[in-house]
Amino acid sequence: MKITSVEAIPVRQKGTVELINDSAQDGIIIKVHTDEGITGYGEVDSAPSVIKAIIDAPVSHRLCQGLGQALIGEDPFEIDRLWEKMYFVSTFYGRRGAVVHAMSGINIALYDIVGKAVGQPIYKLLGGAARPIRAYASVLMPDTVEETVELTKGLCDRGFTAVKLGWGGFGQSMRRDIELVAAARDAAGPAIDLMFDIGFIPTEAYPIDAVSRVKLIRELEQFDPYWIEEPLFPDDLDGYAKLSEMFDVRIAGGENETTRYGFRELIEIGKVDIVQPDVTRCGGLSEARKIADMAQAHHLTCVPHCWSSGIVEAASLHLITAIPNGCLLEYAVPDTPIRREISEEIEVRDGFAYPPDKPGLGIEVSEDAIETYRIDR
Ligand SMILES: [Mg+2]
Repeated sequence: MKITSVEAIPVRQKGTVELINDSAQDGIIIKVHTDEGITGYGEVDSAPSVIKAIIDAPVSHRLCQGLGQALIGEDPFEIDRLWEKMYFVSTFYGRRGAVVHAMSGINIALYDIVGKAVGQPIYKLLGGAARPIRAYASVLMPDTVEETVELTKGLCDRGFTAVKLGWGGFGQSMRRDIELVAAARDAAGPAIDLMFDIGFIPTEAYPIDAVSRVKLIRELEQFDPYWIEEPLFPDDLDGYAKLSEMFDVRIAGGENETTRYGFRELIEIGKVDIVQPDVTRCGGLSEARKIADMAQAHHLTCVPHCWSSGIVEAASLHLITAIPNGCLLEYAVPDTPIRREISEEIEVRDGFAYPPDKPGLGIEVSEDAIETYRIDR
């Protein structure tokens, strides 16, 4: 089997895209086509027009090439070699950030092709099992105490035993951050695991540095958070290490990191407790597996970041069933057309997600929805 083309299709919801922390208002779908008629789907949770440019770019020179043309004629089964080839041909402008994001979407599509070709779900290719994975409901933190109570209660009533509230209303003031977390705990009761993605949102009155965060996390600990996520800007690895060593509460991070090389530093210098690679950004399923294994070697839990369509949900779920240090799936609950319509969703019942057992990703992607929301023609 040979790859015949790599297609990058940017999609965007109708109307406005708001300046909020919901990255599923737009997206980019990757389609890798083959000479045997099998098409693999992937997705990238990044800046869609940038990812498209990286995939569609022509050759500038040997170490500066668009990713798509470099894969034409290659065997999609050679997933690991093709990962290294993409990394090599983009050395001049890549190695981290958007290029690795683009590689991630292609890597997921290659797994989808191989799964479809051999008639097996991706979790089997990764050595995983059809085991249910606890799903945590993930949602933006509301602005007010009243909304936080109502939202948290509603998610618990839906059967979720773990809920994460993040960004959104966080960052208005330290006092308000504490009130919102208190309201969520009050609404959930003591038995629910609550995670807080407190957002590195600097204001003049509320700096984001390790000293300020020590004060806040010391206040939040009384509400028994399961983890505190990204309390600092992702580059402040010394600050992360300080918080991790100072507090009993788990410190989580990694959604903005890429490659085994970046995660090595996050783990060894930043000393995070929960490692959160996003399979559509960190380098794909191949790289997420390596990162999860590195986390395991440090006796750390890996909970992939997952916030977009059913494609990233399915890919993440396949991976989690295969790693010994995976126990939770991030399940984004906000409704956007990109999340709900681009692909079939994975099955989530009573707070558990069930890996799809059809070949490849195991979910249907809607070509009609892609046509409705694509913005490249
Ligand atoms: Mg986050």
